[in-house]
Amino acid sequence: MKFEKSENLTNTEDISDFDVLISFRMDGTIFNWNSVAERLFGYAPIEVVGQNVSMIFQKTYFDNPAAFIKDPDCEPVRYETVCKTKSGKKINLLFQAFAVKDELEIIQGVSLMGKDITAEKKADEKQAMLASIVSSSDDAIISKTLNGIITSWNKAATEIFGYTEKEAIGRSISIIIPEESLDEEELILENIRRGEKIDHFETIRRAKDGTEKLVSLTISPVRNKHGKIIGVSKIVQDISAKAIHEERRSRLAAIVTSSDDAIISKTLDGIITTWNQAATRMFGYTEEEAIGKHISLIIPKDRMDEEANIINNIRLGNKIDHFETIRVAKDGSERQLSITVSPIRNSKGKIIGASKIARDISMRVEAENKQKLYTQRLQDLNDYKDEFMAMASHELKTPLTVIMANLQILQEIMSADPRVKFVSKSMKQVNKLNELIFKILDVSKIHAGKLKFEFSDFDLYQLLKEITEHTLKSTSHPVHLEKQDERFWVKADKEKIEQVIVNILSNAVKYSDSNEDIFIDLKHDGENIVVRIADKGIGIPQSDLENVFQRFYRVSGPASSFSGSGIGLYISAEIIKSHGGKIWAESQLGKGSVFYFSIPASRS
Ligand code: ADP
Repeated sequence: MKFEKSENLTNTEDISDFDVLISFRMDGTIFNWNSVAERLFGYAPIEVVGQNVSMIFQKTYFDNPAAFIKDPDCEPVRYETVCKTKSGKKINLLFQAFAVKDELEIIQGVSLMGKDITAEKKADEKQAMLASIVSSSDDAIISKTLNGIITSWNKAATEIFGYTEKEAIGRSISIIIPEESLDEEELILENIRRGEKIDHFETIRRAKDGTEKLVSLTISPVRNKHGKIIGVSKIVQDISAKAIHEERRSRLAAIVTSSDDAIISKTLDGIITTWNQAATRMFGYTEEEAIGKHISLIIPKDRMDEEANIINNIRLGNKIDHFETIRVAKDGSERQLSITVSPIRNSKGKIIGASKIARDISMRVEAENKQKLYTQRLQDLNDYKDEFMAMASHELKTPLTVIMANLQILQEIMSADPRVKFVSKSMKQVNKLNELIFKILDVSKIHAGKLKFEFSDFDLYQLLKEITEHTLKSTSHPVHLEKQDERFWVKADKEKIEQVIVNILSNAVKYSDSNEDIFIDLKHDGENIVVRIADKGIGIPQSDLENVFQRFYRVSGPASSFSGSGIGLYISAEIIKSHGGKIWAESQLGKGSVFYFSIPASRS
């Protein structure tokens, strides 16, 4: 049996409201049933008198009526319970139990004086439900008087505005209204007084810490049971985050729209889901024509397998970067594209599609092709030039040899004649010409990869000695070859190494005053032999040092007043490189230059 002791009743409640009267004996047999009980329960007295009182209580069996009257001398106890009517309806009853005593003050039964509280109960439940909705709402729910004094303030209001319920209630709503928006409140109140509701009004409100919140307000009048407007209820939705999200979205959308690259997204099945303006320009299909179609719309037939590959990669979460391919436009023309495809994930991280950025690289590819063509043409012209140089110098060699032979005969015949000096001068120039022709021939051979080498074992020191003693004997420069007792064996093309040494020495002679010393020395350096040739001539600017080994490179400034072709050091460098060696120079402008070359030693 469940009789709940009521806690929500007060002693001040008027007993005259308790109009249901039911009396029963100690065994539960009903003996009194008034007309209010009849009306409330639907049973006529005749139907219940003599029955057990438990029939009117919900689900329970009434087994101990004395429980109602534990201490009959004290204040009667009030109970609240659920009863059932004849028709099975549940009603809430609040009652007080009194002991029924006989003349000898012996308890003979119990009288229940009751009151139907079903409606109140329902209202209470509804109220409780509303209160829980209000307190659990994510939106701030605030009510205020028509003068703007806050009368209720839920949890979300505290979260959004920072004021606790205690801090807010009783204060003016203006605590959350920025000064510049105070007239807004007056307008809102005017509307409310007229009984109008305001829906989703977006405005700014201020939190306790001064931060401004973008909010959406829904404001309704609160009426009493007579319909009179007694206050205002306000639902405040904080849309700051939503606004940021929307702003970000619209910014992204603007980027996509204005992009020069086609931006297309598709599902994992290849169905196009978005298509920007650049895609329309690039492929000729409008957004309406493309969306919903399969991406194969723009894939050439012979490249269909590319798509399967791309999607496989996307499924694995991989991005495809700058993949160069061809796609076809609506009019059948092909587009050279560089495409980047990235997976699209939903909020749970699951891959649900792919986004593709396609850049038209037709112009770039065309430019690259043109450049290739020009490079090839340049190469061809260069080859023609080399061929011509080879042919021309070859053809020049024979007549020069003949001229030289005749000059030698003439020199002999005229040996006693003072005019022989003209012959000698001519022979000198023919020699120069000959040297030049040989150099040009070497250059074209190097270029054609036809420079031939004949390797033999020789002592580099001996070679330097021969050159200084014989080749340079006519020069006015004092040439000093550092004396060595060691041997400096190399396996090299002796003639070509001689050509390198003579070239460096001729430069040392050419680019320094006639009486300046030239020093030559050599040493073993690990596996290599390093030859060093130093002069005290005009020197080379630092910025030119690297370049002097390039073909046709000549230093500008004072050096350019010396005759030369800019070929000698280039040939020397090529020869040394072919021997697996190195050539380099150090110099100080106006003080002289030092040229080095190293080649591997063959034995020590
Ligand atoms: P050429 O001497 O016939 O011009 P090279 O290829 O032998 O050609 O030399 C390239 C350039 O290097 C020269 O024009 C000259 O300016 C510079 N050069 C070479 N050797 C020396 C040197 N010993 N002193 C100063 N400048 C030099």
